[in-house]
Amino acid sequence: MTAGSGARPLLLRCRTLLAHADAVPLEDAGVLVADGTVVRVAPFADLAGDVPADRTVTLDGTVLPAFIDAHSHLRGLPLAEQGVADACLEVWVVRLTGTTALDPHDDALVAAAELAATGVTTVQAIHHTFAPPDEYAAGVHAVVSALEKAGLRAELALGLTDQSEFLPERAPAAWPGAERLAAPERGVAPAGFPGLFASTAAGLHGTRRVRLGVAPVAPQWCSDAALAALRRCVAGGLRVHTHLLESRRQRAWSAEGDPMKMLDRSGLLGPELSAAHGVWLTEAEIRLLARRGAALVHCATSNRRLGSGDAPVRAWVDAGVNVALGLDSQHESAPDMFAEMRAALATAERAGGPLTPREVLRMATEGGAAATGHAGRLGRIAPGHRADLIAVASRPGRGDVADRIVYEAVRADVADVFSAGRRLVESGVALCRTETDAARTRLRATLAADQAARAARLAALSAHEERLRGLLTGVEA
Ligand SMILES: [Zn+2]
Repeated sequence: MTAGSGARPLLLRCRTLLAHADAVPLEDAGVLVADGTVVRVAPFADLAGDVPADRTVTLDGTVLPAFIDAHSHLRGLPLAEQGVADACLEVWVVRLTGTTALDPHDDALVAAAELAATGVTTVQAIHHTFAPPDEYAAGVHAVVSALEKAGLRAELALGLTDQSEFLPERAPAAWPGAERLAAPERGVAPAGFPGLFASTAAGLHGTRRVRLGVAPVAPQWCSDAALAALRRCVAGGLRVHTHLLESRRQRAWSAEGDPMKMLDRSGLLGPELSAAHGVWLTEAEIRLLARRGAALVHCATSNRRLGSGDAPVRAWVDAGVNVALGLDSQHESAPDMFAEMRAALATAERAGGPLTPREVLRMATEGGAAATGHAGRLGRIAPGHRADLIAVASRPGRGDVADRIVYEAVRADVADVFSAGRRLVESGVALCRTETDAARTRLRATLAADQAARAARLAALSAHEERLRGLLTGVEA
């Protein structure tokens, strides 16, 4: 029986309830759930008589809305396990081409379970491979099945590009073999994007918790024709997710022009769009994003690790842009949404426009809901919202409950996780742990089998890094 997902109501008794990022904490509160949706929030004593005792669950600590990771690549293992060290974004992306390909189901299952363990119940991810159509669709189906096993709700944006992502377009072949990076084999041309999307989606009937969207991955990695093809998908009601101006060099990457201008003329810059990073947006562009109703996803840890810079998030908020947080699969050991909130605070401080703990908590909850097309349904514990909530162990101390969670909590403090009233984590243990552990073991066996070959590939790439850095100095805004 999955508690609360069926017809019988479920009553959650919360020692402390923080119903949303701006809420006053309530002591001994009750949350009544039916059909996966919150029906009432009231003092526990007012609700206790409505539900049989065997349908009441007591949650210690502080209960708050579950988190939304609004930008992910569903990478199960940290890249350090592949021997990929941090570098500036453009060098790092080239290093990724030397990594070992992992089973998409196992990778996504581990990633999803690790996210659930840090209180994330909804993830927005980009699925991006250069595989031919059949293999591409099979990869998407494997990821969707893993997400469903882990119980995560997902916005899965299908990445489709048609320009070089690894070397600046104007760079000549820089070393033997570099032309393969400059023009990687692609399974499908822009005219085929809508068809590939339709055939991939056709195999997913009956999936309600995973929705497919589209992703140019980054505007400068697409031709105008590719963006136009994606626009036709969006006209059919899909959401769009992208990387946007993550590094300064992306301004001048493509002969097609400036990434923001490309997005704008493609018609993709609207309320269906959420864009990750946005570190190098100008003030005028931030205002344009706000006017169009597009959302930005702040990836503070990722931006630091890849040397992308400190995004001016205070300016985004002040301009009226909806802001979410994204972990970007950039964890060092395991993803931690609390650490990410603190990284967002630290970034804002460094950028000279501080944020408050409650503002970053809002980004991790309601901001994420809006950036993934779930405004009014996720991000709060309130009637009409899905019952996605977490219980975080209390630490002794004084002061505002929200402040303490943002400043002090860690991943291991997440005791219970519910999504649409269904329990994903109970007393710190993920309910799909056995399957996840087996998947992790298989992933590590794949890595071990390819260790020597991978090391050789990465060494060959690193021999060209100086040349690559030299090429990049010519690609600056
Ligand atoms: Zn990313």
